[in-house]
Amino acid sequence: MNILYLSSEAVPFAKTGGLGDVAGVLPRLLAQSANVSLMLPDYMTESIKGSGALVVDRFPLTVGTQDFEAVVKKTVCAPGFSVYFIANDLLFGREGLYGDAAGDYGDNFIRFLFFQKAVMEHVRREQLSFDIIHCNDWQTALVPLFVNMEPRPESLRRVKTVFSIHNLGYQGIFPAAAFAESELPGHLFSAEYLEFYGNLNCMKAGIIFSDRLLTVSPTYAREIVGAEKGFGLDGLLAKFSSKLSGILNGVDYSLWDPRNDPFIEHRYSAAALAGKKKNKQALYKELAIAAAVDSPLLVMISRISAQKGVDLLLELLPALLQEDLHFIFLGVGDRAWTGELGDVAGRFPQRMTFLNCFDEKLAHRLEAAADMLFMPSSYEPCGLNQIYSLRYGTVPVVRATGGLEDSVQEFDPQTRQGTGFKFKGSDAAGVLAVIRRALRMFADRDLWRKLQENGMGMDFSWERVVPHYFDLYKKMLSEDAQHV
Ligand code: ADP
Repeated sequence: MNILYLSSEAVPFAKTGGLGDVAGVLPRLLAQSANVSLMLPDYMTESIKGSGALVVDRFPLTVGTQDFEAVVKKTVCAPGFSVYFIANDLLFGREGLYGDAAGDYGDNFIRFLFFQKAVMEHVRREQLSFDIIHCNDWQTALVPLFVNMEPRPESLRRVKTVFSIHNLGYQGIFPAAAFAESELPGHLFSAEYLEFYGNLNCMKAGIIFSDRLLTVSPTYAREIVGAEKGFGLDGLLAKFSSKLSGILNGVDYSLWDPRNDPFIEHRYSAAALAGKKKNKQALYKELAIAAAVDSPLLVMISRISAQKGVDLLLELLPALLQEDLHFIFLGVGDRAWTGELGDVAGRFPQRMTFLNCFDEKLAHRLEAAADMLFMPSSYEPCGLNQIYSLRYGTVPVVRATGGLEDSVQEFDPQTRQGTGFKFKGSDAAGVLAVIRRALRMFADRDLWRKLQENGMGMDFSWERVVPHYFDLYKKMLSEDAQHV
């Protein structure tokens, strides 16, 4: 099977969030049983520069009214696994992937249209043959449409497309003028196709024109066909619900496991948990936090955005910080909330530390040091930190939504089954009550240890997930055979 996997980010080359984690591991594992090509924009990060990729193609490409040069670089990372970087200095040689401190880049539509057109053109020029093209999020959502447009490259005549929605909150919505730059047939700018309240909506293309739709958890797949979590696309998604399903993301335990995590000072496991407390001591020393190491440490590692429940957090923080605990927030994002978080941390320095940066090493060290992870996301397609937390013996306290619902089981002190604590509503008092219940449980060392062990024993490895992707691909290809 030949698979083309398209993503706007992938670890270790470029990452802003969960998509980067997924695209960093899934294609690599698929390549153990198939030929996989991963194509990404060339952001000129240090790891892309150090990848050893060589130029294999270059061609002029007109996007809208502008002429660009597309340069295609390729490196073979493992047998059957090639990574391609689509380069253009002007479009991708920037500080951020999608924006900088001032916000999203104003030309993001052109940037990712360029990327997708360059992918199609390179495939056509080299006659690269694929059975499956797997697209992810709005940055690659036009490809299923391009594939369906004539003239279809000969090498893609029988290709099937999958479109994965990692976050419906980001649909790639641009003013109507962007549609003209796309040079797509005019009839596609209608409510039935890509138009969305007078604007162009890129994600609609992926939803409508792909052969299969995926999201990153079964619960999120059910939620997005409803008005509350559908971001205005619930009607469209409901219409295509027969091709929609959810597969919970896995975790790369070669990167996220306290038994072999290179970023943490003291390795530990469920059988030998002592290192966890030592990591907390080391972290407090490193960050000059004057908190008692025996008191609980609650952390959040998160983008600062409405999705992540930062408004709810700010509402309950004054009461939460009265408890005997320390709270650390690691994250970057929305400026207004960043300011507020900084203010609260400034007012309660004994109780709260705000780390306003994106720092992978710190994320690992927090997972290893913390007793609990808080994820009050208003919606969460999958969420990865709670799954990392389980392996680190860091008990998740989460909203019962999307992938949080699917990956955390409520702990029952009677049966001693379960891995964390969940809440449903968004009233601060109710959420506080759940955190307080977790804090009470923390005081019972024996019970807490059992809870940690339950989580640490869970297996969310990608190796268990990958067969579900192959099942889907094979099903799609066999359906194709029936039509022929
Ligand atoms: P999303 O993709 O919606 O941001 P996920 O939970 O799926 O949320 O994935 C977030 C990923 O980004 C995790 O790997 C998490 O550790 C990482 N992350 C988020 N914020 C930071 C940060 N400030 N520093 C380091 N890593 C971060």
